[in-house]
Amino acid sequence: MDKLVKRKGGQVKRVEIKITGIVQGVGFRPFIYQTAEKFFLKGYISNISSGIIIEFEGKEEDISKAIEYIKTAKPSSTVIETICVKEKQSVNYSDFKINESLREDNKDISISPDMGICQECQNELQSPKSRFYNYPFISCSSCGPRFTILEDIPYDRFKTSMKDFPMCDECKKEYYNPTNRRYHAQTICCSKCGPKLWALNYNDDVLDFAVNKLSQGKILAIKGIGGYHLVCDAKSDYAVNTLRQKKNRQDKPFAVMMDINKIEKECYLSELEKNNLLSFACPIVLLKQKNSSSISKMVNPNTDILGVMLPYSGIHKSLIKNIDALVMTSGNVSNEPIITDENCAQEKLSDIADLIIHHNRRITIGCDDSVVKCFDNNKIIIRRSRGFAPSSIKLGINGPNILACGGDLKNTFGIFKNEKFYMSQYIGDLQNKETFDWYVQNIDMLKKLLEVEFEYIICDYHPLYQSTIYAQSTGIQCLKAQHHHAHIASVMGEHNIFDQVIGISFDGTGYGDDGTLWGGEFLVATRGDYKREYHFENISMPGGETAVKEPWRMAMSYLYNTFGYFPDIGFVNKLQIEKDNFIKLINNKNLSPKTSSVGRFFDAVSSLIGLRDTITYEGQAAIELESIIDIFEKGSYNYNLKDRDILTGPIIEGIVQDIKNGLDKGMISAKFHNTLSEMALDICKEIRKLYQVDKVVLSGGVFQNINLLKSCINKLTQHGFKVYYNNITPINDGGIALGQIVIGFEKSKLIH
Ligand code: ZN
Ligand code: ZN
Ligand code: FE
Repeated sequence: MDKLVKRKGGQVKRVEIKITGIVQGVGFRPFIYQTAEKFFLKGYISNISSGIIIEFEGKEEDISKAIEYIKTAKPSSTVIETICVKEKQSVNYSDFKINESLREDNKDISISPDMGICQECQNELQSPKSRFYNYPFISCSSCGPRFTILEDIPYDRFKTSMKDFPMCDECKKEYYNPTNRRYHAQTICCSKCGPKLWALNYNDDVLDFAVNKLSQGKILAIKGIGGYHLVCDAKSDYAVNTLRQKKNRQDKPFAVMMDINKIEKECYLSELEKNNLLSFACPIVLLKQKNSSSISKMVNPNTDILGVMLPYSGIHKSLIKNIDALVMTSGNVSNEPIITDENCAQEKLSDIADLIIHHNRRITIGCDDSVVKCFDNNKIIIRRSRGFAPSSIKLGINGPNILACGGDLKNTFGIFKNEKFYMSQYIGDLQNKETFDWYVQNIDMLKKLLEVEFEYIICDYHPLYQSTIYAQSTGIQCLKAQHHHAHIASVMGEHNIFDQVIGISFDGTGYGDDGTLWGGEFLVATRGDYKREYHFENISMPGGETAVKEPWRMAMSYLYNTFGYFPDIGFVNKLQIEKDNFIKLINNKNLSPKTSSVGRFFDAVSSLIGLRDTITYEGQAAIELESIIDIFEKGSYNYNLKDRDILTGPIIEGIVQDIKNGLDKGMISAKFHNTLSEMALDICKEIRKLYQVDKVVLSGGVFQNINLLKSCINKLTQHGFKVYYNNITPINDGGIALGQIVIGFEKSKLIH
């Protein structure tokens, strides 16, 4: 006799439950199966495009209990967005089944991002008793790759690159056993049936060989989850230096992979930082390094911020066995996309790496490591990629399907469909031909996965952005968004803000609607429109883009703008340039565009006080200026307003005076930072008087500077403003695709 009949009392009911969110590929179906058993329910569960569908038949009371249980006991990597319950006619199911996936038409879709190796799999990896002992591709229904092996949805083994590996009998047994934690784990595989590591001309255990090479200071390339990494011993100056030379990367910090106890030895670690490291996304977390750290100084020259991550797969766990810390940097040729393909790796990385380790599981979608930075109880995202992409964000609006092209630097693109915004993984700088091609491929891929046709495409105002040129080539109705408005709108989208805000965008450069380069903007903005209320005065960028790479040019430009000549100070005298010619360059409108960028202002100050005259990676001058800050210095410089222009002359005068007085650089840096946050407060107060707005939105690449971000938040909050900034999308140009969607949605209304 079946359980239903045995359990007397209470009416038998049948309900349909639809659950949306991240519920596929996270062990949800086995969990529901076990829930059904626990509460004596029958029916079925199936993946559908929008999530999962369950039918429960059983006692009303048991069904209610089961639904409560689902909410509280769900697997940790699950995100439930909605649960919708509908009563149906009883049909007397005879058991509970996991059915084949169903594909609905035109529903919203959730795609699970990749997940770092779980604790149970780590234990098995290290246990000689386990049949997964030392098997680098170990995973289960709540961990392992997802997005990066996907070919189509719904998420099922035969729609991933795991389809190349038919399950052996033992794996099958676990896969079909509802009480096993690998029940319906699409990535299940073992040393008998699953992917293998290999290296050219090498037959034995390649991992042992690799570990050995690393301890000799050699450089490795190894295929991981989202692509290849270049790897070396992070404690060896020799190895790190060799990697820098071979990769032609002078100063830009490398990320380091370590176990959590090693991280605690090398860096200061707050609870929040620890939680982020241990989260299933396993991002790189930027930490403050201890003075006692034994990591080579070559890893992160001129800064004590170290990017660290945990070994997030069996491959990495096996690699790090005998070595404390490994440099792990994306395996690519400068500015090209991360390499995912074996032939490409062999061709492009063999000049850099002494040994290349491949595996035979195809990476269908390349994904770099993500980067986050925590402060107090908050965090910002520097790069949103593996572990986050392409999970969706609910925007609380519904309308046409839109593709947002993003910006040209640090590109991510995004798709809006059925109230949800799907943000791509980190793509990179589109000025690079390979990266641009990869961008187009990824747009096509995500479009296919989400089964979407676009009614609108939205891009930046910049006429020469590759993303703009692409948008205009598609034939889709094209809308445009101003760069800094998009920065501000990205925050409005994240935080569901629908009224007017004061938007402060401190940024590198973005195309302004007057044809100059903006980047120091105080906007009064709604989702659909903005007014440029205040902005930094326009300063010449001598030589255009060259001035970005050579901050000394910006310093000279600011000096000339302030004094009308070059003052007799060490900075000017050491440069040995023909001053009159340089003045001509400053005044040459064709060669030297004007900018209001705060990013360039940081560059100028960094160079002026003797920190950094030329940079080898983006943002270096500003990063080094932030890193020397004397947090106890409370002073600041004066600034002036002329109409709606913020004049920087008095600030430069103050700095030059302090240099002459021999004031410590850390103090000058602190005074400069304080000046900007005080100015932000003053100007917000002025705007509040005019518009009665008290919401302030902060966004733009300069706010990756935590000292500046924090002091702006603190000062504004103390004076009654409500402050918002990017928390789940990058605060830099990696976030503007979301802003473009928000703006595009409003602009499309005017067309309809
Ligand atoms: Zn696992
Ligand atoms: Zn197997
Ligand atoms: Fe920007």
